[in-house]
Amino acid sequence: MSKKIFLCAISNISSGHCLEDCRFCTQSVRYGAAIERFYHKPIEKIVEEARAARKRSAVGFCLVTAGKGLDDKSLRFVCEAAEAVKKEVPELNIIACNGTATLDQLRVLKSAGVGSYNHNLETSESFYPKICTTHDWKERYETCENVKKAGLNLCTGGIFGLGETMDERISLLESVASLEPASVPINFFHPNSALPLADRTLEADEALQMIRTAREMLPSQRIMIAGGREITFGERDREIFTAGANAIVIGDYLTTSGSDPLRDHRMIEDAGYEIATECHDN
Ligand code: SF4
Repeated sequence: MSKKIFLCAISNISSGHCLEDCRFCTQSVRYGAAIERFYHKPIEKIVEEARAARKRSAVGFCLVTAGKGLDDKSLRFVCEAAEAVKKEVPELNIIACNGTATLDQLRVLKSAGVGSYNHNLETSESFYPKICTTHDWKERYETCENVKKAGLNLCTGGIFGLGETMDERISLLESVASLEPASVPINFFHPNSALPLADRTLEADEALQMIRTAREMLPSQRIMIAGGREITFGERDREIFTAGANAIVIGDYLTTSGSDPLRDHRMIEDAGYEIATECHDN
């Protein structure tokens, strides 16, 4: 049987008003990047996007809010969105990605139908202060621990290409492995002239090597290639699967455009893989 590839779509349901200073992120208000900024995407629009994602074979649908973490108002909004998507498109596993979260908040999300929580460690603990000064890495790790305590599936990974060393990349992967997540999103930095980070896009060969390393260190996790796939690999992106990835994000990312999902379907099938039809397929 051919390897199954899992497809996941993301919806930016509250965009661009984050007060934090992550140097790779266009959603921070500090850098004035030219992106769309809004507080609450209408629920009908979120459901419409979920339906479209399922039609394009997504098995996961991620509700993302920009910001350091949840407060009562944003928690209610994410729950409302999750309940609406669950009701209208029950085949989708709902992932929430809303920053720092307490155990109680995560339990509330779970009771609203959320199945997984995404919170990336982003980079190694030692490099983190160079990319963010407004919150610390340990807080991120603690949220990941809370996700597991709440009985949600944990998605945690990071982003490569911020100027970190190879040792720092390995350290990130070791920390991710210590959390035993279900899924590991790997992003590659997408440069934007508004951001304080200089262009540091990884070459495709180096990025493929990082996927191979991640697969060796995380042999049983789902490895998902997320933001930066297109600019990093171009037409070589089918090579991510031989390197060890078995999931991708389809459609647009939070603030950048992605590929046409139908082009991705063809790419996966032409490469001899099968598109998973359910989130918990093996
Ligand atoms: S906390 Fe999240 S949304 Fe805010 S700047 Fe950092 S990465 Fe961006």
